[in-house]
Amino acid sequence: MPKNKPTLSEKFDLAETHVLLTGTQAIVRLALMQKARDQENGLNTAGYVTGYRGSPIATIEQAFAAAGPIVPANDIVFQPSINEDLAATAIWGSQQAELRGEGLFDGVFSIWYGKGPGVDRSGDALRHANHAGTSANGGVIALMGDDHTCESSTSAHQSEFAFVDAMIPILAPANVQEILDFGLFGFALSRYAGVWVGLKCVKDNAESTACVDGRPNRVVIRHPAPTEFDMPPDGLNIRLGDSPLAKEARLHELKLDAVRAFVRTNGLDRIIFEGGPAPRIGIVTAGKSYPEVRQALHDLDIDETRAEELGVALYKVAMTWPLEPKAMLRFAADLDLIIVVEEKRALIEPQIKELLYGRDARPVIIGKRDEDGAPLFKSSGALETLQIALAIGERLSERTGDRQIWNRVAELHRFATNRATEPEAFERTAYFCAGCPHNTSTQVPDGARAYAGIGCHYMAQWMDRATDGFTQMGAEGANWIGEAPFSARDHVFQNIGDGTFVHSGSLAIRAAVVSGTNITFKVLYNDAVAMTGGQPLEGGMTVSQMAALALAEGVARVDVVTDDPARYRSINLPPGVELLQRSKLDATQRALAETRGVSVLIYDQTCAAEKRRRRKRGTLPAKAAGIAA
Ligand code: SF4
Repeated sequence: MPKNKPTLSEKFDLAETHVLLTGTQAIVRLALMQKARDQENGLNTAGYVTGYRGSPIATIEQAFAAAGPIVPANDIVFQPSINEDLAATAIWGSQQAELRGEGLFDGVFSIWYGKGPGVDRSGDALRHANHAGTSANGGVIALMGDDHTCESSTSAHQSEFAFVDAMIPILAPANVQEILDFGLFGFALSRYAGVWVGLKCVKDNAESTACVDGRPNRVVIRHPAPTEFDMPPDGLNIRLGDSPLAKEARLHELKLDAVRAFVRTNGLDRIIFEGGPAPRIGIVTAGKSYPEVRQALHDLDIDETRAEELGVALYKVAMTWPLEPKAMLRFAADLDLIIVVEEKRALIEPQIKELLYGRDARPVIIGKRDEDGAPLFKSSGALETLQIALAIGERLSERTGDRQIWNRVAELHRFATNRATEPEAFERTAYFCAGCPHNTSTQVPDGARAYAGIGCHYMAQWMDRATDGFTQMGAEGANWIGEAPFSARDHVFQNIGDGTFVHSGSLAIRAAVVSGTNITFKVLYNDAVAMTGGQPLEGGMTVSQMAALALAEGVARVDVVTDDPARYRSINLPPGVELLQRSKLDATQRALAETRGVSVLIYDQTCAAEKRRRRKRGTLPAKAAGIAA
């Protein structure tokens, strides 16, 4: 019988074995699956999910909200944080819930989420928490949301090296199914080895949709035998009274070996193509690059049978750091050449080189550089399937002399050349939505200068608004603190979004006050975190509360400008805060620029996209229809 259209509730119904899920919905289901597995094993666990959204995991909060009461009914607490580092510390706390005999559950399995900049700002918290470790019946997965191509970020990100620095092992799922599978392995690994486990999320897995096998018992997880890893009698998990050096020693000398043994025992790194009886060329890849390599091989007309004829072996790494050595050494034995295909900076390639260094008859290893040291797979931007196909095809053609491959490579070269001569598609600079409050709020008086901030208003830099320069999220204004003493200019405006203000930006206002800087912060209050999908501000901070907080920080003057002063009839602003109609924006900005020290203008107008959403949901009256002539 044909299946009905998939419903939202069945995505989270564990009785449904095969479901259509997005990557972020898979995270919700993963938490439910972990709970079910624990129940099956006689454990009474709870779940805890916290972090701060951002592409490519911007919709995780909508996914948990959409799942509804099934989440708390399974003892899973979903608690968006005001920022990533405080969330990471809260997760650290979740691993201590049963340490002092006060726990309500046998353990808490936790999921942290954050995008690349959130990983960076959380370095201290991640290091402390991973050193401390995880609980035996809890475990932590950290979703590292990386925007490789900088589509919704101010810098391209690759969080692996931050995780390596904190010594957090990293699993790289290639698709939605592997978010579920690696998620379950990740929790088990975290419990076993007492470490946090990173789960690499990019748009290709987190923002894609797939029909997946969502059975909680789909993966069979085994603990390493004592011959593989000799677990100390007191285990590797978090404990009270642990000293910093004891934690470091446990992490360096035991936990990483436990991680490698776990990966080996569970066969997480896999040989996909054996390459026939005498493989000569090995391709190693992981995560999002895996389907791209498969596509590249397809473009070269290479399937498993053909790979065997050509002596091409394919190895898929699940844990990109630390690399499990034994299976890799077996794979590399007898190969002449290893081609490592990985996006962004090389992570797997140097580990393979280190592993094989000094061995007799080691293969040539290429990846970021070719056989002669020339660039091969670039580390900036993204890799293209065509580029991968050409790199593999050229070497196969040369080493095997296969005519079919030679012809395919020639065809692909012709395609690449023709494509390069095609005119660029029409490009349009992004702009604010119609009706966007930033159309007005980011304007500055003639002769003034503004710094941009994080949020949609960042785009003001591409417009004729004397707005140039920005900072990372939460440091708005700090550029000017350092520039002002050395500038002939006396004052600047600094845009800062309401979401950023709550996340961490209010601290930058304090820094400006403390340093005696002459600056006007323009807090752009859109009533929603527009850039990541219109989520409400954490804690629902109001304009009045922001004004009061700014005054408490010691700013000299706060004014509120709005498109709708009538809304303020029943709202009490703090004493001294003036309310003005937006037609007075220019005059108000001039007055604030004349105010010595730090001043704040809160521009209150709801995001136009959010208004459209609210009208659709019926929570905002429809606009009166009119006729324009
Ligand atoms: S999403 Fe909202 S804040 Fe962002 S550009 Fe559109 S209207 Fe403006």
